[in-house]
Amino acid sequence: MSFLFFFFFFFFLVIFSCKQAKKANDWQKFCPILKELIELTKQKCKYIDPHAAPYDVCVDMYERGVAPKRIAEIFEQVKKDLVPLIEKVKTKPIPDSSWLIGNNLSYDIDLQKKFSFDLAKELGFDMNHARLDVSEHPFTGGAHSTDVRMTTRYKLTDPIDGLMGTVHETGHALYEQGRPGAPYADLPVSDALSMGVHESQSLLWERMVALSEPFWTHYWPKLQVAFPSLPREKTAADVYRVVNISRPSFIRVEADELTYPLRKRKRRSYSRGR
Ligand SMILES: [Zn+2]
Repeated sequence: MSFLFFFFFFFFLVIFSCKQAKKANDWQKFCPILKELIELTKQKCKYIDPHAAPYDVCVDMYERGVAPKRIAEIFEQVKKDLVPLIEKVKTKPIPDSSWLIGNNLSYDIDLQKKFSFDLAKELGFDMNHARLDVSEHPFTGGAHSTDVRMTTRYKLTDPIDGLMGTVHETGHALYEQGRPGAPYADLPVSDALSMGVHESQSLLWERMVALSEPFWTHYWPKLQVAFPSLPREKTAADVYRVVNISRPSFIRVEADELTYPLRKRKRRSYSRGR
């Protein structure tokens, strides 16, 4: 069996095992599989460039041409500016979110799906050449710019989480759907440029647009119509404060605008093994 075939086969086993571990909340069982994946990835990197550090080879696969040294500089700058800002924000009172998100609240999943579907369409997502489904972890994929598949996930007790997932993935999907068609389709020039460029499009929509007050001025009345249990007296400004609460999270897709970059920085240290 070729190494590449084995690697892809093993990768599916990793995804399956990760799901099982999450379900059982038993991450010890997942540890040996994760270790094996790391070793196999190192081996793969050695095949690609036997002289470079595995981390640098991985960086080049996802962010072609960007020197790891440059990434280190960016993260240092981010840390320098963000840490004091987070310290300052931590001293401020956290806005009350219990009227919008909480275990005592319930938002019909089918209604959430419909709202997300309509929202994605309004942002420009072409449903005639794409799908929006549900998965454990939101993602965007698909075989072609004319066949884009994106997923989100919904929480019964939180109408914002699924919505933000949809906006983020719509950013990825719009980039995919915007890739050139004929006569450039399927040529290297129509390929997605890099993971960083892709993520810049999703974060533009999620962070710059959907976390802004004007976005909620438009969508809060619509959300109130979709979910009549939402309090009438609350305004777009109230939602704006809730969606921008800064609180560290172990779950990447739930991290906020302030702590997300530091989380990424930490993950980079783990990936480099230091
Ligand atoms: Zn993304």
